[in-house]
Amino acid sequence: MKKKKFLLIVLSLLVLFAGFTLTKSFLVSSKQPAPVPTSVVINEEKAIQNFSKALTYKTISFQEREKFDLKEFDKFIAFLKDSYPNVHEKLDLEMVNDYGLVFKWIGSQSNKKPIGLTSHYDVVPVLSGTESNWENDPFSGAIKDGFIWGRGTLDDKIGVIGILEAAEYLLTEGFTPSRDIYFMFGFDEEIGGDLGAKAIAEKLKQRGIQFDFVLDEGGAIVENMVPGVEQPVGVVGISEKGSATATLSIIGSGGHSSQPKDRTNIGRIASAISKLEETQFDGKLRGPGNDLFEFVAPEMNFGMKYVFANKLLFKPIIEQILLKEPATAALIRTTIAPTIFQAGEQYNALPEEASAIINLRLMPGDSLEDVKEFIVNTIDDGEITVTVTGTEASSISSTEGPQFEAIQQAARNVYNDSIIAPYLMFAGSDAKHYDSISDNTYRFLPVQISSDDLNRMHGTNEHISIKNYINAIKFYIEIMKVTNQQ
Ligand SMILES: [Zn+2]
Repeated sequence: MKKKKFLLIVLSLLVLFAGFTLTKSFLVSSKQPAPVPTSVVINEEKAIQNFSKALTYKTISFQEREKFDLKEFDKFIAFLKDSYPNVHEKLDLEMVNDYGLVFKWIGSQSNKKPIGLTSHYDVVPVLSGTESNWENDPFSGAIKDGFIWGRGTLDDKIGVIGILEAAEYLLTEGFTPSRDIYFMFGFDEEIGGDLGAKAIAEKLKQRGIQFDFVLDEGGAIVENMVPGVEQPVGVVGISEKGSATATLSIIGSGGHSSQPKDRTNIGRIASAISKLEETQFDGKLRGPGNDLFEFVAPEMNFGMKYVFANKLLFKPIIEQILLKEPATAALIRTTIAPTIFQAGEQYNALPEEASAIINLRLMPGDSLEDVKEFIVNTIDDGEITVTVTGTEASSISSTEGPQFEAIQQAARNVYNDSIIAPYLMFAGSDAKHYDSISDNTYRFLPVQISSDDLNRMHGTNEHISIKNYINAIKFYIEIMKVTNQQ
């Protein structure tokens, strides 16, 4: 009798558990606004010619600033003036450090916060020796079989030209914005953006300007991006990871290799690295990584929906799965990448010094001090000196207000069946400079690309489909229209 009662209790608990967790998964609702398909029709021929021409200017960023060919930058700016006459007539243009471009479109309601659309027109150099690997010359702006070719087609002249095409279109339509709209174009993003974006942000900050949001390049719409989601997912960076350099070094007695000590300098640095790799930073589903799943889970199949709806229960399992792949692990933890190891000069002499450099990408919330403390505690070797320098992750922008929703809405108006979700950017961008003039900086390039395209961004054969380019223009038109109604 007692046994039966016990079984009954267990059974009822199980039913309750199943009922509770299942109900939770049924209650998960989509976080995607319904698309209002765009009705914009663009003069494609003209827009394509403009983009093609823009790609022919060698506005290349070099680490050594004296290598910049500023004549090319001057020519590019003159080309913009010729190609976008309405923009240059109706908007104020300010040059920051001669080449940073700030266009201000004055709105009718000064009580509303402005929005900022940003991009950069400098491009990375073509690696010497790879020129002949290009199917079309990187500065030809070749138009072939539905594609436009050249450096900057993805990173990031498409942003500059897309935004200006959109503004030119809206001006000819007679559109006047309610809030001020700024277009901010950097010219040195690829080497850090100090004289471009950073200087622009500082200048606007001095004037007390605070943006409702700033939108820069960053994520894009990618197919097969998230397992379990059939639709293409557009990821909008709401923060970017920090980047730090840790140096581990040891100086001690060397000596002849015929009588080594049990623990040599090389052995100790190697062991320190090994301990760090074995231990790793904690991988925790939190911040922008967590937000990504909050937004895509409602679009997943029932099994995945069930897991994410009951995340508190399944969190440890989800984290274990995410930690298995480098790309998803980087989403939830600070990463450790030993990049330089130096010691020794001669095969039969023990080196007096050994050192290693580790590149770390920091999660939002992990400070440089946290990182140093983790390294010191993990390697547990008082004779190894540890220094950590670099930048912490940027602040995290909101995913709950009208700002993020505006980006979702504009993107879905153009890419009707895509899912737009927040994520964490691993690479750096100009966007971080705009953190000081806006609580919300988003990183999203409105194109639908593949992982191959991502590799071409700083590599060989960078190109984009005409369809994507036209869609990018439409997105920028939509974002200006959507925010106008807010
Ligand atoms: Zn870029």
